[in-house]
Amino acid sequence: MLRETGALRDGHFEYPNGLHTDEYLQVALAFRYYQYAKMLSVGLSRRLRADSEIRAMIKELSIVCPNTGGLPIAYGVCEALRAHQVYWAEQDTDSSPMRFRQFIEPQKGEKVLLVDDILRSGRRLTELRSLVESKGAQIVGLAVAVYQPNPTVAKFGGLPLFFLTQMDASYYKDSASCELCHKGVPVEKVWA
Ligand SMILES: [Zn+2]
Repeated sequence: MLRETGALRDGHFEYPNGLHTDEYLQVALAFRYYQYAKMLSVGLSRRLRADSEIRAMIKELSIVCPNTGGLPIAYGVCEALRAHQVYWAEQDTDSSPMRFRQFIEPQKGEKVLLVDDILRSGRRLTELRSLVESKGAQIVGLAVAVYQPNPTVAKFGGLPLFFLTQMDASYYKDSASCELCHKGVPVEKVWA
């Protein structure tokens, strides 16, 4: 599905943090298609429902995603789980702090699950975690469609991580150590 929709690309890519890789995944490309979005969300919700602790709190569980790009999977998981509601964070620019809209934010003691389409460096979910915790809400876990950890992926302490699939890419820490650079393969810069 990821290949068919162009979400999974082979090639030679450079991330903003300087890492080079042979594979790039832009899960949003698969979420353009409603039926695929639904399949991925239902699949992920089944992983969540299989967890007895999550299952016991579904009715009061809120879903929070780190940006509006996460809304398709957040609503998909919320619907499939029959969870309580959805929140999303926003940023004015890539470098400005994440925030919730006025009056639309998790409340103190509210149980929330952080959801995104992919976990790669964990940077966005780490920032979202701090923001949600600053509101006093209780994070019960993280759920992503694809887990593609890079070598410096953030740690989330004891929080359970749910994912549909893990996809490992080859990472090179810079162009000097990159086999593709050595072979002279043209590099494509990716934004995120
Ligand atoms: Zn390279």
